[in-house]
Amino acid sequence: MGTGLPEYRSQREVDEEFGRIIGACYEPSGRPPHVPTVRLTGVAAPRYPGAFWLPTGQNLGYNSGPKSFAWHTAITDADSIRGWVQTSDACQGWVGRRGSAEQYKGFDEACYGTLDGNYTGVVTIESWDGLPVATATETDVNRAPWPLPMCERIADWIAWARPSLGIPIQRLHRTDSRGHGPHRTGISHPTTTLSNGNVYEGSGRWSSSTSKPCCGDKRLTQLYGPNMDGGPGSILSRAQAIDAAVSAGRCGWLPTGDVDLPAALARTGGEPVDWFTDCFA
Ligand SMILES: [Zn+2]
Repeated sequence: MGTGLPEYRSQREVDEEFGRIIGACYEPSGRPPHVPTVRLTGVAAPRYPGAFWLPTGQNLGYNSGPKSFAWHTAITDADSIRGWVQTSDACQGWVGRRGSAEQYKGFDEACYGTLDGNYTGVVTIESWDGLPVATATETDVNRAPWPLPMCERIADWIAWARPSLGIPIQRLHRTDSRGHGPHRTGISHPTTTLSNGNVYEGSGRWSSSTSKPCCGDKRLTQLYGPNMDGGPGSILSRAQAIDAAVSAGRCGWLPTGDVDLPAALARTGGEPVDWFTDCFA
């Protein structure tokens, strides 16, 4: 009791997680001299209401944002990576296998998830993939799609960030633009089997690796759609539908905890939901 952790997680799960090796992205960098350590307005960025607020690690100071979200894959079968973030400070948030979300740091606080992006307003969100950390390869990462409850959670988070953080629901072009993209937006030669799978446009370097495919080919296609434009069949398209429905007062954001997929899809009023049709193609 009193840990502040979600009630659906047993203490045994928490203990296991703290002892696990997590294969998530750790890309530390120093604070550039021109970035102040505190936000000059003094107003903290709002927290995503669909995530459990579990503040963790040390406060690395203002990140000069938030301006964009980088979506990542964590090689782990853990239900939470809070214990890993406590020592790595590597992300602001997490999406678990059943769509439950956790937020560890403010969206205007820096983390060590994207190297050059850490102090340019890039928010890092990690996500479960269930792969074995000891043996997983970049090819394995490219084969692992997000389960549908995770897609819906990500779409909800992206939709919320539009009115709440001022981040437009659009594909990232360049590492210094506004919107949502995969970690590989800032990785120059990501391993990929897709003809349009290299979405690097620079100029920032978001990893010490030049080949890491994070968040993986399948997840990239889920996020941007088959045409890599955020159009039909994409999580970004689904986020547009959620944003429109919430703005019109027809529904609210997802609650905390696991995603009830039928209820979550129904809340937007019955528009065709085409965003997942290509997920497993
Ligand atoms: Zn990553």
